[in-house]
Amino acid sequence: MIGNARCDRMWTGARLLTLAEGAGLAVVEDAVVASAEGRIVYAGAREAGPAGLDAAETIDCHGQLVTPGFVDCHTHLVHAGTRVDEIARRLAGESYESIAKAGGGILSTVRATRAATEEELLDASRPRLEALLADGVTTIEIKSGYGLELYAERRQLVVARALAGEYAVGVVTTCLAAHAVPPEWRADRDSYVVQVAELILPALADEGLADRVDAFCETVAFTPAEVERVFAAARRLGLALTLHADQLSDGGGAALAARLGAQSADHLEYASEAGLAAMAAAGTVAVLLPGAFYVLREARRPPIDACRRLGVRMAIATDLNPGTSPLLSLRQAMNFAAILYGLSVEECLAGVTRHAAHALGLGHDRGTLEAGKWCDLAVWDVRDPAELVHVMGGRPLAFRVWRGTCV
Ligand SMILES: [Zn+2]
Repeated sequence: MIGNARCDRMWTGARLLTLAEGAGLAVVEDAVVASAEGRIVYAGAREAGPAGLDAAETIDCHGQLVTPGFVDCHTHLVHAGTRVDEIARRLAGESYESIAKAGGGILSTVRATRAATEEELLDASRPRLEALLADGVTTIEIKSGYGLELYAERRQLVVARALAGEYAVGVVTTCLAAHAVPPEWRADRDSYVVQVAELILPALADEGLADRVDAFCETVAFTPAEVERVFAAARRLGLALTLHADQLSDGGGAALAARLGAQSADHLEYASEAGLAAMAAAGTVAVLLPGAFYVLREARRPPIDACRRLGVRMAIATDLNPGTSPLLSLRQAMNFAAILYGLSVEECLAGVTRHAAHALGLGHDRGTLEAGKWCDLAVWDVRDPAELVHVMGGRPLAFRVWRGTCV
């Protein structure tokens, strides 16, 4: 802390949950958050703060709970079309794999997204983003993956960047061209993999449209060898990695993600103990996506106890997508993680803040309330932090702060 600093803004009368490493769920009463140039200058008890702390503007929180802004580290937010028909099909007993094989699932969203203009994609995406922001999100990851050819993949990422310009939110973009083999390449999937590695990724990296690269490593999608070719190209381009891994079967995705230095491996229902050990050693974050688990009525839970035992960080995300996780609330994702996976309240809250920031390689500058990090806050009309996990629905968010400004 800088002594006698005059800050831009100061929030007083707050009850603070810093979610800093080791801080647990201890609420700091009568706390202050002060920011300058969008960064936290001080966050802690008023009486322990620096003498002469002062700001151009002071906001009284009247005892509201202040947490770090939430980080949704895995979404497919930008897409066109709807897949509401799938709920009826699944209720009639059809499996996700059989719907996908019949041209539904991801490929039906691909058709709609390819046909949509940039403006139509923007119009479709805004209300989804607004719903997530209304539930405390200040940073979001957005994947492509419904274009599966250069220009449609590019359009999705252009829209993701446009949303970042329109809304008070941090956006991380991820190219997921290796989401599914598009129908026109089904007879020659090898050529599609080559095209992703040698055409799509270089073009998007050149324009600065993709921060990271993802792939769907699964029996219905890409093999580990195919993923490795795509990821090798990504690494040459200096792009970070993340992987949809071991969701429907153990394809060795967790170990592959760890070996290639991915920031996160996501889903992990079928991940092996050896894969998780490799993730622990590599610092790869486990991103849990209980929305998809719930919608697909999966029976096999991700290996939570092994993650705890091995020290793998666990993040939680919405996996917002039109088919398997039409989930517009990160609070609800926490509730699912608690009820379906048995995560503690502390694990849930760390999972959407500190650990989610790490899953995006951004743990150094967001995800906790600590001096030097971005002043991204969620201010809640709740007494007990557990309410954020326990209560479903409602509108507990009072307001958000993004980079030191109330929104
Ligand atoms: Zn996903």
